[in-house]
Amino acid sequence: MADVIVIGAGAAGLAAARELHERGVAVTVLEARDRVGGRAMTSFDVAPHPVELGAEFVHGENVATWSWIERFGLGTIDDANQPVFVTYAEERLWSAGDSARRSNATAIWRPEARARREAQEGGPDRSVADALKAWTDYWPAKPSDDDLRLLRNAFAELHAADIEDVGIAGMLEATYEGDGEHTHYRLADGYSALLERAAEGVDIRFGAVVERIAWSSKGVTVHTRDSRFQAGQAIVTLPLGVLQAGDVEFDPPLPAEKQAAIEALGAGNIGKIVLRFRERFWNEDFSFLLTTLPTQLWWRPGEGRPDGAPVLTAFFGGRDANCFGEMPDGEAINHALRDLEAMYGRELAPLVEDARVVIWGNDPYTKMGYSHVPTGGAGSRDALALPVQATLFFAGEATNRVRPATVHGAIESGVRAAREALEAR
Ligand SMILES: Cc1cc2nc3c(=O)[nH]c(=O)nc-3n(C[C@H](O)[C@H](O)[C@H](O)COP(=O)(O)OP(=O)(O)OC[C@H]3O[C@@H](n4cnc5c(N)ncnc54)[C@H](O)[C@@H]3O)c2cc1C
Repeated sequence: MADVIVIGAGAAGLAAARELHERGVAVTVLEARDRVGGRAMTSFDVAPHPVELGAEFVHGENVATWSWIERFGLGTIDDANQPVFVTYAEERLWSAGDSARRSNATAIWRPEARARREAQEGGPDRSVADALKAWTDYWPAKPSDDDLRLLRNAFAELHAADIEDVGIAGMLEATYEGDGEHTHYRLADGYSALLERAAEGVDIRFGAVVERIAWSSKGVTVHTRDSRFQAGQAIVTLPLGVLQAGDVEFDPPLPAEKQAAIEALGAGNIGKIVLRFRERFWNEDFSFLLTTLPTQLWWRPGEGRPDGAPVLTAFFGGRDANCFGEMPDGEAINHALRDLEAMYGRELAPLVEDARVVIWGNDPYTKMGYSHVPTGGAGSRDALALPVQATLFFAGEATNRVRPATVHGAIESGVRAAREALEAR
């Protein structure tokens, strides 16, 4: 019998299990899928090099992910660390220089900085959309419809949620303080390789879909579809989307404050469409292409690789991700192609060799992209993270107030929950 059961073998679950395992605690991880990594998932067959379908970047040179990267001797690619942004707006592509010279260029990326100033001055908690309407001095020049759409798209891909759905107070809890200046490292062998290395030596049961967690001050019995596991404690790293859907029954139900925290947070949607072409039709002069179109943001997953294939990734969040998620894959691919054709002014369908569509909100074991805090929800991440008695502990990106929505935030949360469980024993 395990001392501790960890539910979920994503970054948070693996971090928790490693922390316990290294301290001699008997730990078993129950994972619904047949792989580790959760929202970190690399494709090795769409190009000659790894292409990320989930998490892609290591955001900062000081973040917890590096302790794994260094320990496992993995390589990184840092070409996107001097990111070159180009823009598609007013029905044309703007080069990096011209993009930066557009009169409202900086404002597109600045709602957080402006919100921070307002919060310091004691401003109200309200949605980013409402704040933008109230900030009469926000835009250097009267914003065009395309300026507004660029801001919406930049925000949605970053937060997996639209400006109407995110509250200022909760958004500002996530400071990412101390993470570092350089924010776009890729794993040379892919994120999946990192998570697989982190899983080495850990007892993981795959295909273990947890349906019920019976708990008391004496311990837990975790029921999967076809088995049950007992332990003194459990660390729950289920994604917020799964918790909100009620797919796992807690018996007795979680305390009211915990349930309120689950409901007060937002489980936003995010998706990727990856397209491999027969040849390049774009200039290799950008890291990121921000558009006014539903595909929001494009990049080159092969950037900086000697074997970089002609592959482009579209990355989109919020309502646009929901719309793509309602389409069959073929239709989503056609929409993405139409966006590219509009930007590059040529027919591209005959050049497509392969494609992948992943809408994380449709994934049955995630049901979300990553978390955000709606208006009025500040404080809920901490409430979600709190243990219940000395039995149930909670980790996962949504429980990290300072560094949510990241792999390193998930790792940190797993280590935190493991230490809480150890202390409570
Ligand atoms: C498209 C996309 C791009 C991203 N890009 C980046 C990036 O560039 N950089 C970055 O740092 N972060 C990025 N993120 C965020 C990052 O991937 C997540 O914050 C992090 O991976 C979450 O880890 P976790 O352990 O909290 O959750 P998860 O990885 O979701 O792990 C939870 C685990 O629980 C399992 N599970 C679910 N239900 C059950 C059940 N009933 N029984 C048993 N197991 C169950 C799941 O299968 C999963 O393995 C991105 C996320 C997405 C979706």
